[in-house]
Amino acid sequence: MGYGADTGIDLDSLFTDVHEDPSRTSRRVQWSLEPDGVYTVSSLRNLIDSHTLVTSPMPTPWDNNIPIKVNKLFWKAMRNRLPTRDNLLQQGINLSNILCPLCNSDAETCRHLLETCSTTKEVVAKLHYWWPLLPGSMGAYEDWITTPWLPNGSSKRGKMLGVIVKATLWGIWNARNQSIFSNKVSSPNVIVREVKMLAFDWIKIRVKECKSISWESWVVQPMP
Ligand SMILES: [Zn+2]
Repeated sequence: MGYGADTGIDLDSLFTDVHEDPSRTSRRVQWSLEPDGVYTVSSLRNLIDSHTLVTSPMPTPWDNNIPIKVNKLFWKAMRNRLPTRDNLLQQGINLSNILCPLCNSDAETCRHLLETCSTTKEVVAKLHYWWPLLPGSMGAYEDWITTPWLPNGSSKRGKMLGVIVKATLWGIWNARNQSIFSNKVSSPNVIVREVKMLAFDWIKIRVKECKSISWESWVVQPMP
């Protein structure tokens, strides 16, 4: 099989030879985009879309309420430059598995990880249950990064919302990295707790209107 010339995708690298006995006299070919190793058109279609859809030209706003490293992550995400498995593959790095490490059921692209992954959706839904002012479902992750979260004219509430939304994306990225590099698989509940802690720390340090909030009240609900 040749190369996807228009997409930069090396199709050969998506198939892995699996030897079924120690003498290696028999073998089968495994498709790395599906957990059961069976080739499907839809999994390849999703991967090609992730390489051919136009990335957002929107500028990335710098947010002083979150750490520099998080702003940098978002700058890369807006340009589809995160080292997700599809991007590593496109750069010619040979990977035996390009599935999302959080759900293990679809190819890992930036949009999948931050938007359509079942784990990400569950985390978002649980955070919405905690504080219903937060979005209950994922839209485009670019909107999460660029939207000014200032509903009802309350700057304190708006800043809290913005920080929590961005801590959610950071928490997902962290969980993904821990799964790959530390072999630590985080459940949605663990990621949710991590997001609550991250957002609390960032807000206490960076948002002056929120310096007096306590962890005890925070975990119940940030604001009425
Ligand atoms: Zn996933």
